[in-house]
Amino acid sequence: MRYIADHDFHIHSTVSSCCHDAAQTPETILKYAKKNGYSKVCLTNHFWDENVSSEAEWIEEHNYSRVSSVLPLLQDDQVAFLFGCETDMDFNNVLGVSRERFDCFDFIIVSTTHLHLSGHTVRNEITSPAQAAFHWTDKLENLLCKDIPFHKIGIAHLTTGHILKSRTTEALSLIPDATMYDLFKECARKGAGIELNVKTINMNEAEKEILLRPYFIAKECSCKFYLGSDAHKTSALDGAKENFEDVIDKLNLQESDKFLLPTK
Ligand SMILES: [Zn+2]
Ligand SMILES: [Zn+2]
Repeated sequence: MRYIADHDFHIHSTVSSCCHDAAQTPETILKYAKKNGYSKVCLTNHFWDENVSSEAEWIEEHNYSRVSSVLPLLQDDQVAFLFGCETDMDFNNVLGVSRERFDCFDFIIVSTTHLHLSGHTVRNEITSPAQAAFHWTDKLENLLCKDIPFHKIGIAHLTTGHILKSRTTEALSLIPDATMYDLFKECARKGAGIELNVKTINMNEAEKEILLRPYFIAKECSCKFYLGSDAHKTSALDGAKENFEDVIDKLNLQESDKFLLPTK
């Protein structure tokens, strides 16, 4: 049975400082979910736990009181509205969620590819595809070594332009198949979800093959996938469902490929 686009697990609201659309509220997000017939939607604002100390200079404002200010989330008969977050790993590979806070969230997205944040996720600015390829691999490897509840962890946008802007595909091309197989086998074994963030795949035709390769390998390794628009504004919600359907077709995803969050 074909994978059903019945959720969006990566959405920001005005609580994220990078969201500049005052209309991007939980109410709008719930309306979007209902309009598209989703059964689940998850709010995942940026989060760095104030209980986790970091050598990097994280912005204090994305602390727990800020991300939890959306609670209680609206509830609806058709749509389960989940409370999540998107966190990072600093340049020492310290993860931005403390052990006791894992229970506070339904779902935790970890970005291993915010490589544009020098001084935070990487010590120095990344200027070459080789450096970007190294960090892409190294961060994911480090995440997979952690003792965390992977059944509620999603790995964000593995092919985003944050890797190295216009040279992202060059960087990804440097990562051998064998490395990707090793990493994705481990993702599958641990049970982490792999995000399909449509914006990061639908670049031009020439780049599509390069951008889809990690996901085809992940699929072969039996990884499970979730859909995430990573919408920061209402206009980004508009085409999300259509893009989800497109990527489901491209990867020929089946319902058995779906990442399922544990039910409460
Ligand atoms: Zn992100
Ligand atoms: Zn995001």
